[in-house]
Amino acid sequence: MLSKEEFINNAKVGKILARKCTKCGHLHLVTTYFCQNCGNKGFENVTIDGKGTIVTYTIITVPPDGFEKYVPYAWAVMKVDNSELSISGFMGGIKSPADLPLGTKVRVAGYDERGIILEKQ
Ligand SMILES: [Zn+2]
Repeated sequence: MLSKEEFINNAKVGKILARKCTKCGHLHLVTTYFCQNCGNKGFENVTIDGKGTIVTYTIITVPPDGFEKYVPYAWAVMKVDNSELSISGFMGGIKSPADLPLGTKVRVAGYDERGIILEKQ
């Protein structure tokens, strides 16, 4: 099983905890019963480096309740290096697309009430 708490503890130290298929090596971010690639039922936990590139994002100008203090920020999707995994997270200080070109190298920098925190490498 892949618990949320374990995932968060890894994110706090810049790592991503994933489930790796023991047959084909396909990585999954959530607990699944069958590999999405080959249908195998065996998995092992692996921790991978929380580094990657920005593939898309949304700049938040109207934040949800309690997030006013974080504006401006972006909710960004990072493609993890050397895998097909994508994770989404919070990036502070993003006012316009000029602040965050697609392809920017980022890394997991922590986890708190904002979710996964991403930072430029
Ligand atoms: Zn597989």
